[in-house]
Amino acid sequence: MKTHAQAVVIGGGLVGCSILYHLAKLGWTDVVLLERDELTSGSTWHAAAGLHGLHDNNNISKLQYYTMNLYKELEKETGQGCGVFQPGSLYLAQTEEREHQLRIQAAKAKYFGVDFYEMSIEEALKKNPLINFDGIRCVMYEPDGGNVDPSGVTMAYAAGARQMGAEIHRFTPVTATTQQPDGSWIVETPNGNIHTQWVVNAAGLWAREVAAMAGFTMPLQPTEHQYFVTEAIPEIEALDFRLASVADRDGEYYMRQEGQGLLIGAYEKNLKFWAEEGTPQGFGHELFADDLDRIMDNVMRAMDRVPVAADAGIKRVINGPMIWSPDSSALYGPVPELRNYFTCCGIIPGFSQSGGLGLMTAQWIIEGEPEFDMFPWDISRFGHWADKKFTKEKVADQYSKRFAIHYPFEERDAGRNTRLRPVFEKQKSMGAVFGLNYGWEHPLWFAGEGVEGKESYGFTRQDWFEPVGEECRALRNNVGVIDVSNFGKYEIKGAGAGAWLDRIVANHIPKEVGRSCLTPLLGVRGGIAGDFTITKLDDEHYFMVGSGIAERYHQRYFNAVERPDTVSFESVTEAYCGFNVAGPKSRELLSRLTQADLSNDNWKFMRSKQITIAGIEAIGIRVSFTGDLGWELYVPTEQQLKLYEALLETGADLGVRPVGGRSLGSLRIEKGYGSWSREYSPEYWPHEVGLDRLIKMDKPEFLGKEAYAKIKDLPPRELLVGLIVDTDDADASGGEPIFLPDGTPVGRVSSGAYGYTVEKSVALCFIKTEHVVSGAEFDVAILGKPHRATMLDAPAFDPKGERLRG
Ligand SMILES: Cc1cc2nc3c(=O)[nH]c(=O)nc-3n(C[C@H](O)[C@H](O)[C@H](O)COP(=O)(O)OP(=O)(O)OC[C@H]3O[C@@H](n4cnc5c(N)ncnc54)[C@H](O)[C@@H]3O)c2cc1C
Repeated sequence: MKTHAQAVVIGGGLVGCSILYHLAKLGWTDVVLLERDELTSGSTWHAAAGLHGLHDNNNISKLQYYTMNLYKELEKETGQGCGVFQPGSLYLAQTEEREHQLRIQAAKAKYFGVDFYEMSIEEALKKNPLINFDGIRCVMYEPDGGNVDPSGVTMAYAAGARQMGAEIHRFTPVTATTQQPDGSWIVETPNGNIHTQWVVNAAGLWAREVAAMAGFTMPLQPTEHQYFVTEAIPEIEALDFRLASVADRDGEYYMRQEGQGLLIGAYEKNLKFWAEEGTPQGFGHELFADDLDRIMDNVMRAMDRVPVAADAGIKRVINGPMIWSPDSSALYGPVPELRNYFTCCGIIPGFSQSGGLGLMTAQWIIEGEPEFDMFPWDISRFGHWADKKFTKEKVADQYSKRFAIHYPFEERDAGRNTRLRPVFEKQKSMGAVFGLNYGWEHPLWFAGEGVEGKESYGFTRQDWFEPVGEECRALRNNVGVIDVSNFGKYEIKGAGAGAWLDRIVANHIPKEVGRSCLTPLLGVRGGIAGDFTITKLDDEHYFMVGSGIAERYHQRYFNAVERPDTVSFESVTEAYCGFNVAGPKSRELLSRLTQADLSNDNWKFMRSKQITIAGIEAIGIRVSFTGDLGWELYVPTEQQLKLYEALLETGADLGVRPVGGRSLGSLRIEKGYGSWSREYSPEYWPHEVGLDRLIKMDKPEFLGKEAYAKIKDLPPRELLVGLIVDTDDADASGGEPIFLPDGTPVGRVSSGAYGYTVEKSVALCFIKTEHVVSGAEFDVAILGKPHRATMLDAPAFDPKGERLRG
């Protein structure tokens, strides 16, 4: 075994082998994979290994298609069979909502140029004559759907990696990983140690144990999962083609042909956790005892749908472990608190995602950043608050609702009340309906004093449409108070603080005390990794506000610039809360509570003051994400309730209202303001989203400067623009594809909402540059159907910014 390597991958399952293969493919051939047993010894060997392409998230869809196409290439490249069967998958809709979901997916498929289209029942019967189509409203067909051989695929990745020079050592358990002062690692095994630049944790079922070796924890919990294979079925033996698999998600099971029989698996309601206190080291190629009773409800539905299954004997039952994250997506990326430690764990649809995971990992490690925005997979989306209780509750919910429809504004019940702020009970008493935001309960909308707020979900406008409208109108006509405590908040101080910050962000940081600036943070490829408001509170003392969900994500960038010992950098997200007081009467309201001069002459837009308000010391910044006249006020968390009550009581005669996050979404979209992870992501270039004016190339250095220099004069590939959409009962919410009236795909929605001030449905979207012409008309696929939309030349609300600066 070699003693030095560029990267050591821990875990020889499907995912680890794909990562090794892709590292070598992208040029890192001095890489090693260590496996404690045989390859495939975790979840991989016993998987049903079904393949699917489309996902609710557009980038994940792209990576799933990449993976599905890769297997045949791998076979050619390595000579190792992957056992690829692609007889297609039939997606069945039993309900109107499922039909909406499938039609939305079909519209997205058209945009991506991939095959996923409606099929008549007559045609579907030719693909699978054993299905009983009673009660089915619509059928979609995915020709590439199918399955692979789990160990064949894993061995093919391994063979491909070896061909390029990578090493694989079986029966070599990693027993310790130790970070070295220069950021490299020593990986210990009974067969010797390896000094490596990067460690990759792809230890699947043992990911928690391997993470513990490096001193961190991951929110993961294994469950049992079962499927069974039937004996040969004469009706299948009689066919001269392979059956299309059955994706009857309303029935909550999956089914495909296996040999001359059927394979049926289910995500049951009363799931069973496994290895809650840790995965046993000695667990190998073992299975749990059969427990088909647990999945019997689901199996009965499968038998109703494919009646021949009811008469078939059971040949074998697989009850094996799989390991879940709280939202069932990967825990992925470099661990922000460590140097050069990559994690790729909690992978549920591994066979649909292995190639994409491997490719993005190799890009991230070798090139510094993946080409796609991977935030939906990024481990940084969970913080220390994602403890065992939270994880178990969420995993139970994810498992048992694996095939449920996910709606655009869905908030799930599991894992709630994890992080509460002092105003929680007060907000609840005002009928607040809460959402989960980076673990926090935060108000989405208010049903009204003494009314219990309840949400309904669907793809069309829901019960909250009117209450949110009232909030928006109250703010635009009078004044609203929005809890913005979710924003990530940081305090930077000490000799050299300004110089350090200036080396990180792309704009000049404010030079004068009392000034604030907006600044992008650029990624390794020159895209938008973040957007911040930086306020100079005092000499060498700054207050910075950014996206709250991205706080751990941004940590990677703050770590990238060495901080002098004299400079302290502290997250004050928990220590401080914030309110945005906005609307034409916000000045009047605040002036009743503070001596500070709020007049436009003495407190201009983007200026700040440290003030006393309602007897509380606060940082006040004249900004508002609503696009209206307004102030953000930040106070110590213990003062949050006192300030909230003072604002609401004092403003009663002005018509003040508590305003929730859903209103903020509508208000910022009609004003055309971008939001991180929607309009701003490392995938988008600054000049595509209108942030290039905030990048100061005359600065000697800032993160991403060289990368930006290479792209800044390239023509934008797409442009962020606003649309007015003609729709009656459903608004765009993000992800909807956009076509020219002749059906040519030209873009997609990043955010959408009804704009209550402009009284129109509005959307922010990315459109291919050549189609961005004044007055252009497009079709936005809402519920999968075209809705005519007209491009805006300026924000729908207050295009000249008079309200903001008034
Ligand atoms: C019953 C069942 C059915 C499934 N069906 C499907 C399906 O139809 N489609 C689909 O896409 N997915 C399916 N899955 C999920 C799929 O199996 C996983 O997504 C995939 O196998 C995850 O692979 P992995 O490489 O991340 O983890 P694992 O397969 O768990 O591999 C981890 C590897 O790390 C090794 N390891 C651990 N600790 C160490 C150490 N200290 N040193 C060295 N090596 C170590 C282990 O021995 C193991 O080989 C199914 C899972 C189950 C249980």
